[in-house]
Amino acid sequence: MNAGQAIRIGLGWDLHRLIAGRPFLLGGVEIPFEKGEDGHSDGDVLCHALSDALLGAAALGDIGKLFPPGDAQWKDANSLELLKMAWKLVHDAGWEIINIDSVVICEKPKILPFREAIQNSLAKALGIEAGQIFIKGKTNEGLGEIGQGNAVEAKVVCLLSSRIVAK
Ligand code: MG
Repeated sequence: MNAGQAIRIGLGWDLHRLIAGRPFLLGGVEIPFEKGEDGHSDGDVLCHALSDALLGAAALGDIGKLFPPGDAQWKDANSLELLKMAWKLVHDAGWEIINIDSVVICEKPKILPFREAIQNSLAKALGIEAGQIFIKGKTNEGLGEIGQGNAVEAKVVCLLSSRIVAK
């Protein structure tokens, strides 16, 4: 790393209710399941948490500001496309991704069989290598709304480095 080159950490969190009749989407990958995320957009909890992590690291706002849930143009929006738009803002401000780490918490379905597909989907959307992204699936040990299968939660951290080197 060059002297004076900034690195910034970002944190994102999101939670959506799980209801029948909706697709279960994680990082743009549809996972076969009897329920999916409720939401104004398609509800992809991982894309939302990741968008907030990237925006937060660059101090460029959050997805609630960029894509207000009351705005009809984001109704049923593809969250992978929203992620691309958020990342473009951050990238245009001079930032590159070092790595992304995440945890998805839900009782069902199992995330592990879809990890590679999700990593590939996010890497393609962000223009980075799949090896820069990691996804871990956890249960909530049967506790609370997540444990009852009524919600899914995602937590994401990212590390960014600046292309702009301070003199
Ligand atoms: Mg959300």
